Amino acid sequence: MHKGFDKSKAMFEDAKKYIPGGVNSPVRAFKSVNLDPPFIERGNGSKITDADGNIYIDYVGSWGPLILGHRHPEVINALRDYLESGTSYGAPTELETELAKMIIEAVPSVEMVRMVNSGTEATMSALRLARGYTGRDKIVKFEGSYHGHADFLLIKAGSGALTLGVPTSPGVPANTAANTITAAFNNTDMLKEIFALEGKNIAAVIVEPVAGNMGVVSPQPGFLESLRDITMSYGSLLIFDEVMTGFRVAYGGAQSLYGIEPDLTCFGKVIGGGLPVGAYGGKKQIMEMISPAGPVYQAGTLSGNPLAVTAGIATLRVLQRPGVYEMLEKKSAALAAGLAEAAADCGARVNFNRVGSMLCGFFTDQKVTDYATAATADTGKYAKFFRAMLQEGIYLAPSQFEAAFMSLVHSEEDIAKTVEAASKAFRTAI
Ligand code: PMP
Repeated sequence: MHKGFDKSKAMFEDAKKYIPGGVNSPVRAFKSVNLDPPFIERGNGSKITDADGNIYIDYVGSWGPLILGHRHPEVINALRDYLESGTSYGAPTELETELAKMIIEAVPSVEMVRMVNSGTEATMSALRLARGYTGRDKIVKFEGSYHGHADFLLIKAGSGALTLGVPTSPGVPANTAANTITAAFNNTDMLKEIFALEGKNIAAVIVEPVAGNMGVVSPQPGFLESLRDITMSYGSLLIFDEVMTGFRVAYGGAQSLYGIEPDLTCFGKVIGGGLPVGAYGGKKQIMEMISPAGPVYQAGTLSGNPLAVTAGIATLRVLQRPGVYEMLEKKSAALAAGLAEAAADCGARVNFNRVGSMLCGFFTDQKVTDYATAATADTGKYAKFFRAMLQEGIYLAPSQFEAAFMSLVHSEEDIAKTVEAASKAFRTAI
């Protein structure tokens, strides 16, 4: 039995007095599902507990980082041990080289890597580098993709910006937006037209190789290949934003799954094991343009923070073990199959997209391949479904346009409970 939200409600009211909207990141306010958010007190394994003592099976996983679940013992022990040494020095540590080597070994297109503190910083810095390297100003991004909240990337953006209906935020100057060209995901012809017109001015194309901020949308066969070919032939850089997919869909990220080598790659989430982190890396020749090796400036007081790096190293060590991604795949496939069957049994028209441990059920009868088809989803039905699932103890992303993340520690019992809850929730939703 759900214990209600009394304590969370009181905490939210209090928070709203001191923090804009009561939250430090918009989607946490649960606006699009018309609910006050539960305040979370702790997490353990696949579960989180809210302030009222409700326990949920968690498929948000801190929005992707917690591929090992909450409080994984190896991550917690590594952090505990490190805390005896300190928290931050603003000086180099050997740990940073260790994590850099692990990333470089995992992702062949990455020869050098620079640590930052968030995915936003990673994409922002990678694009500054691409512009510095090519001497060009324009960039191409895809509609419904989210690359963090830098001004020039907050154009037709996904995730929270999509959900809240503010694809372009006030405060983004028109002349900044003018350098960002938006294309449709999975549409090679449109990209060819853009390059025919503007190719010589385009510094880079940035893409989520599996789009994860308009739900989950996989690249259609040939799409990433043509991105590689077109950018190469115009001397533009191809940037894979693997903040979500890196070490998630495969140890080597989406680029290893699809066999494409981008020029630059952005990371975040999993490589920080739940601590604030980001990174960008790529070909040595390009990366050596970054200060102090080269002239493109980028810096950070807490960049390469030893605690964040420690959590990242501990996480990647677990992920290196044989069978890990096979196990994630098996669990994710079981959940997706169970949910699809539950939806079909109830006559709910839901289209599921899944790549590895990223999953999304769109409340539409259209196959979702880009932003336009994602936008056909019935967000009202999703909100009803979401609320019913929460009552049943299942914590999903509070928006139709987000991925559900499976972790290594979700059990068969968790999956069975989730499917059982969904069987009821689909009935409520339709
Ligand atoms: N890129 C992608 C693909 C993301 O999913 C996100 C965050 N969800 C970001 C960039 C921004 O990362 P952060 O929130 O750490 O700034």
